[in-house]
Formats: sequence, structure tokens, C-alpha cells
Amino acid sequence: MSGSNAREQAIFEITNREATKVGKRKTLDKIWASDVFTLAKMEEALSKKAYKAMKNTMENGAPLDPQVADSVAAALKEWAIAKGADYFSHIFYPLTGFTAEKHDGFILTEPNGKAITEFNGNLLIKGEPDGSSFPNGGIRQTNAARGYTAWDPTSPAYILKTRNGATLCIPSVFISWTGESMDKKTPLLRSNAAMNAAATKVLKKVGERNVAPLNSSCGAEQEYFLVDANFAALRPDLLLTGRTLFGAPSAKGQEFDDHYFGAIAERVLVFMQDVEEKLYRLGIPAKTRHNEVAPAQFEIAPYFEAANVAADHQQMLMTVLKSTAKDHGFLCLLHEKPFAGINGSGKHVNWSVGNATQGNLLDPGDKPNENLNFLLFCGAVIRGVHLYGPLLRAVVASAGNDHRLGANEAPPAILSVYLGSQIEGIFDQIAKGKLDGIDESGLMDLGLSQIIPFTKDAGDRNRTSPFAFTGNRFEFRAVGSEQSVAGSLTAMNTMLADSLNWMADELDKAITGKSNAAIRAGVITVLKKVMEEHGAVVFGGDGYSAEWHKEAVEKRGLKNLPTTADALPALRDDDVVQLFEKAGVLSPVELEARFEVDAEIYLLKIAVEAKLVVSMATTTIYPVATSYLSELAQASSAASELGVEVDTSLAKSIAANINGMMSSVDKLKKAMAKDDFNSVVEHMQFCAGEIRSLMDEVRGYVDALETEVADDFWPLPTYQEMLFIK
Ligand code: ADP
Ligand code: MG
Repeated sequence: MSGSNAREQAIFEITNREATKVGKRKTLDKIWASDVFTLAKMEEALSKKAYKAMKNTMENGAPLDPQVADSVAAALKEWAIAKGADYFSHIFYPLTGFTAEKHDGFILTEPNGKAITEFNGNLLIKGEPDGSSFPNGGIRQTNAARGYTAWDPTSPAYILKTRNGATLCIPSVFISWTGESMDKKTPLLRSNAAMNAAATKVLKKVGERNVAPLNSSCGAEQEYFLVDANFAALRPDLLLTGRTLFGAPSAKGQEFDDHYFGAIAERVLVFMQDVEEKLYRLGIPAKTRHNEVAPAQFEIAPYFEAANVAADHQQMLMTVLKSTAKDHGFLCLLHEKPFAGINGSGKHVNWSVGNATQGNLLDPGDKPNENLNFLLFCGAVIRGVHLYGPLLRAVVASAGNDHRLGANEAPPAILSVYLGSQIEGIFDQIAKGKLDGIDESGLMDLGLSQIIPFTKDAGDRNRTSPFAFTGNRFEFRAVGSEQSVAGSLTAMNTMLADSLNWMADELDKAITGKSNAAIRAGVITVLKKVMEEHGAVVFGGDGYSAEWHKEAVEKRGLKNLPTTADALPALRDDDVVQLFEKAGVLSPVELEARFEVDAEIYLLKIAVEAKLVVSMATTTIYPVATSYLSELAQASSAASELGVEVDTSLAKSIAANINGMMSSVDKLKKAMAKDDFNSVVEHMQFCAGEIRSLMDEVRGYVDALETEVADDFWPLPTYQEMLFIK
């Protein structure tokens, strides 16, 4: 089948496809958390004592008695088997950023030949996968492969169903035999504990008597693309790398802004509803859905939850998006930049910290200038982002995200904090050593009698900022769409813990009496110091502009780290190593392991892409372009025989592009063969610079050929087709 036949066939399949059959959606009360072993289900199934212990662990992180684990295991088994489960699995989150699972049957055979089911506290608490193939960044050798998974009772167990059965899933941490974390969950839990301890200290210093355990919260907005599976099957680049390595721009892209918040196409909406139903069953509170800026791009945002649970749910959400897309004849692309020239995908991580007694500590309330708790926590974030901006950049560094950060569609690779006019005004005053009135947010009165006036927010939104205050939380916008949110949350909690510990010491010095006035004066003194030393990170202007890039680096001393090769080494900075070690979140060995794994994944991803560029250019594009060239040449000589001359400029241009492409392919192959690097950082720099630009060079020729070779020769579905045919 010629290229175009395959493309035509794909279009035929798509335009004639029957709508996916989905059952009528059940009402929320019937399906909500139906596949989750919730506290409510525990209350029914467990003894009062066991239930109270579990509740205390889930809500306050209290230690759990192994005997309780036995009763929970018994109840879980009964519940899961009644739901059709015959296997269970510890679910864990290795350093790859993916989700891992190893299933074991409940089955146990007896000497008399009968089979019974077995599950107990020991099996619930501890699993032992031979995890030797997981990247561990040098934490252990393959001959010392032992690793453990251990039950995390603070994230509820659930059932994962297929058409043919069900599996009981138990969220877990993953650690080496020597106790080092080899996963994303352990440091997140530790960072939360560090934040809790530091926050409690600060709150007590400013006179709070009753302080409940603090937890961090996360609401993640997930962007993604949908491409019809028939097209995707004809694009090896999409299948292997998640992005198009070639592709000329479509005549129409996103310039009309007609997709953003546009009416959702029926086929897509049915897919979304199917996703939501699955999420609801898993207790994941899907809340917002809409078309995104780029054609074929969408967003889903669940309501925020405790960070640890939200991180687990986020992983599940990505899995559900991908698997459900298949049922609907789509390929779901979570890559940060599937298509050149139009927006890529991010994952905004909305983050706040709070507890049952003080509430959300990032909520300014009606009178932020009088809300000392808020001002302290907000100040702590400002200090944290200023000191650890490079760390925040490093935890979102990936080969995919490099295409996004710093391009004019996504936050810059420079970390700054946006506060909004009202809060920025307050901190400006604090910097000057006094704090009086505030800008009122005011009423929005349109002067239309039928529109009810409403209160405005205290600040506008600034979508060019990587780290923005959005009313009662910070939104970290630089996170990549494919990434686990655990790394970002861990970094944010840890930097906050560090700032709060620093503040606790400073408050000791600055608060000189017990009265409210003395406390307030002390708080303002400490916050003034924060602004003097770290105010440079606060920026309310256009983060995309060239002036900002200049000012940030030259005047304010902020770091611009455009690529992963520039950013990842921040994980090895002394202050970052100390930050994690002091907070008890990651030991130097554990942190170095993260650097090594991320660096290796970066190198591997670029290597796969480069190999595919070479092979697609050589075995797909070259044959197509030369056979078309030969057709043009034949036409030209046939015309000459008839005594007419046809224009040969196109043929000449195609020949030049073919030659250019092959010579770039040759250069790329030579560059890929280089292996005499002194360090992994040098190797990463070579990939970020040399390899990536040679890949772009090949692409330039291929994309030019796409606009010259006859459409019925071209084998790859085009941008136009992939983005607009649904
Ligand atoms: P946007 O308008 O920024 O696109 P969305 O409504 O798409 O916002 O998503 C905002 C996310 O922030 C949701 O997941 C929401 O639940 C979450 N969120 C709201 N309040 C908080 C909070 N206090 N802490 C953490 N996340 C929050
Ligand atoms: Mg949103």
C-alpha cells in the first residue's frame, strides 16, 4: 500500500467509525468510590478499635499497630473477593515516574488438592518484588536485588477491573534492602512530615495553642492530546516517542483561538465522560474538563486532595486516560510537546498546606494584612522559591519538558513568584517596614440590572509566571504533562519546611513580648528580612518577555536554566543536598540516585528519538522523495521528447532537500556514535546542543519535502489530518 493509500484508508476508517458504545452513565451516588476501600467501608467492616486506629492513621498519620493490619487485611480480602478480585498487588512508583505493579493470587493450595484463598496482615504490610530491573541510580547492584514494597495506609486501597476480572491494589512505598527510597512516594511522605513539624513550630511561636497535624494538598490540572488511533498507527514517532519528530505545520493551527474552551466534539465528550465514570469509581474527584488552546488538546482537573493521595490518583488518572482512549479509537498523548508550532501540554500543580485547626494557611481571607499566619506561610514560599529555584527547575526537567519551558506558551525556565496586585502590595509595604491598609478587591458591577454584582478576586491572573499565587494556593505551572507530581510536591514541601524552620529561629529573636502587638511586630520584622533577602524573586510582569529574561538574570541574579542538561545538576548543589538531608527527606545517596536516574532517562529518550529520526529519514522519507523525484524526472524527459519544457524548479528543490537531509542524517549518525564523554553532564550537554540541533536540521529538510512531494506519495499522516480529523 503506498503511503497515501494507508492515509486514505485511515481517513476512511475514521470518518466511517461507529460511535463507541458506552452504557448509560450511572448517577454519582451509585458509582462514587465504589471500587475503593474507603473509611466508610472500613467503619462497616472493622471493629470499632481497628476502625479508629485506621482513621487516625489516614487523617493524622498516626502509627499503626500490626494487629490492626491483620484485621484490615481480612476485611480487604473479603471486600475484594466479593468484588471479583482474585489477585492483589502492591502498587508503587519507581524513579522512572511510572506506576509499577506485581500481582499475586489469593490462591493457596492444600495437600488434599483443594485451593483456598489467603491474605493476611503480613502480605498487606510488606511485598518483596525482585525489583532489580528498576533504575535505582546506583543504590544497589543487580546481585543485591532485594527490594521491598510496604503498605501506605494513608492512601486507600482499591480494585482495578478489566472486562475479565479484578485486582486488589494496595498503594505502597518501594525501598531497597538497605532502607533507601527507590520511589517517588517515600520522599513525598517524608517531606510532608518535615513540613508539618516546621509549620507546627512556627504556628506555636505566633501564639497558636491548638495545632492539628498539617498536610499539603494538591490539585493537578492535566493537559493532553487525542489523536485518532488510525493515524497514530502510521506514525512510528508517535508510537515510540509520544511526539512527532517530523511534520510540516498545518495551514491552520491555533491562531484563531477557536479551540480553547470551544464546544467539545461529541466523540471527545463521550470519551471524557467514560474517563470520568472510571475515575469516580476509583474515588478520583474529576471536576473540570475543557478544550485547551491547541487543536486536539484537552484538560482534565480533579478537585484537590491530600498531596500523597492526589499524587497516587494523578498516576491512575494518566493510566485511565491512556487506556480509555484506546477503547474510543484514540491515542492519548501525554508528551509535553507532541506537535511543533502549537502549544504543548503541562500539568499545573496547585499546592497549599493546611490543617483542621488553622485551615488553609495560604488563604489570605478578607484581611490579608491582618492574617499573620498567611503572611508567614506566603513569605516562607517566597524565600523557598528564591533559594531553591534551580531545584524547582530541576524537578520538572525532562527531555519532553525542555520543548515547552521558555517557549512562548509555557512558563520560562526562570523561577519567579507572582503574588497578584493585592498581596504584592502588602509585601511591598512589609519590605518598607510598615503595613497599613490594603487594596480592596471590590465589587464587579456591570451596571446591568439583570447581572448580579459579585466580588472580584484580589489579584488578576498571570499565566506567564511559573509559580503563581492564585487566591488560596500556589500554582506551579512548569510541571510537564507526563511527569509524576510527586517530585514537585516533595521539593515544594521541603523548601517550605526549610523556610519555616528558618522563620521559627528568626521569630525567636524578633518576638520580644507575649502581646499580640509584640508578635505582630516580630512577624513583620522577619518578613521584612525575607523581602530584603529574597524579594528579588517576586515578579508580576510578563515572564515571556526578553526584557524579563535579561532583568531576571542580570539584575536579580535569578538562574535561567533552559535545558535539562543545565537544570538537573542543581540536584547536586551543596545547598540542595543539605536541604534534603537536614529535612530528613532524601539522604545524599538517595538524592544522587535521582540525579542519575533522571540523567539516564534524558539520555535514553534523546537516543531513541535520534535513532528514529535516522531510520525514518532513511527508510521512509528518502524512498518516497526519490521515487517522486524520479517521476518528475520522467515527466520532464517525456515532455522534452514532445518538444516542450516543463518547469524543473520543484524537482531541483526536492533533489537539494533530499541531499541536505541525507547529509544531515550522516552528521547525526556520527554525533550519535560519540561516546568519549568525561561525565554524564557533558554527555547531556552534547545531547541538548549537538544531537537536538542535528535532529532539527534533518527535520527542516523533511518538513520542506512534505510541502513539495505530491500528497499521494506522502506516507505520514499530516498535522492537518491528525489535529483536525476526529
Ligand atoms: P484554572 O482556572 O487555574 O485552570 P482549574 O479549575 O482548572 O483552574 O484547576 C484548579 C485546581 O486547583 C483544581 O484541581 C482545584 O481543586 C485546585 N485547588 C483549589 N483550591 C486548592 C487549594 N487550596 N489547594 C490545592 N489545590 C487547590
Ligand atoms: Mg485549568
